[in-house]
Amino acid sequence: MHPTKCPVLGVVTHEIAHAMGLGHEQARSDRDQYVVTYWQNLPSSWNAENSGPYKIMSKAYGVGGPYDYDSIMQYGKNFFSINGQDTIAAINGAAIGQGQRIGLSKGDVEQVVAMYMQMKSSCSAGSRFSGERGCKDIDASCAGLAACDGTAHYTNCCACNGGIEYQCFIGGECTPRPPMPAVAAGAAGCIMDITHKFGGHYPCVFGNGCDYGIKIMCPHLVPRMYTSVPANGMNRLPPTINGVTWNGICKPASSGCQFEKV
Ligand SMILES: [Zn+2]
Repeated sequence: MHPTKCPVLGVVTHEIAHAMGLGHEQARSDRDQYVVTYWQNLPSSWNAENSGPYKIMSKAYGVGGPYDYDSIMQYGKNFFSINGQDTIAAINGAAIGQGQRIGLSKGDVEQVVAMYMQMKSSCSAGSRFSGERGCKDIDASCAGLAACDGTAHYTNCCACNGGIEYQCFIGGECTPRPPMPAVAAGAAGCIMDITHKFGGHYPCVFGNGCDYGIKIMCPHLVPRMYTSVPANGMNRLPPTINGVTWNGICKPASSGCQFEKV
């Protein structure tokens, strides 16, 4: 910020308004209907298309609504003049106080209120994270799932450790992840292959769909492998075991391993 102008409260307010998302009033895409810009009195490198604070912002807020000459985001008549001559003026005569740095205009306040308006009645200003996490199914077919079966379920459905997890706000929507659907009898039936969720960094990442821990023994591995997976938890195999890439636990039926409830 400018070393000598910054002590002016209005200048600080202007910069804070930028941080809140407000752009310069004279950068609105419809500004030429309201102000005339004297380019010959501005730095030669500035133009309407590419550079400088008079460049038009195509997505400016409030275009089509009333132009606010009183905005704290509006430049004064000779800001950045290279020769002392005016640089911008209201088309229909003088705009009193144009470029004011007293404080937010009524229009500025209305814009901020509109930009930060309450979107949902259950959310209040100052909402904070509740500390809980919710989950949203990606696919409607996840509702009432009888079993997790296949990659689509593991990717799309909250009940199968998929879906989209989100941070909940106090007073906002927060749908907890539903319990895993019942799985086939036996601890081996609790094991689900969720390797695809980890970008191929491991040969086998497995989830436990049951609400009890499972101990897994694979005697054909040397040395004898023993691992476990907590209730509704997950575990992974290292990329290689004894130099061999192995994904056996992710294929319980053909792994030759024993899966025991603990
Ligand atoms: Zn500015």
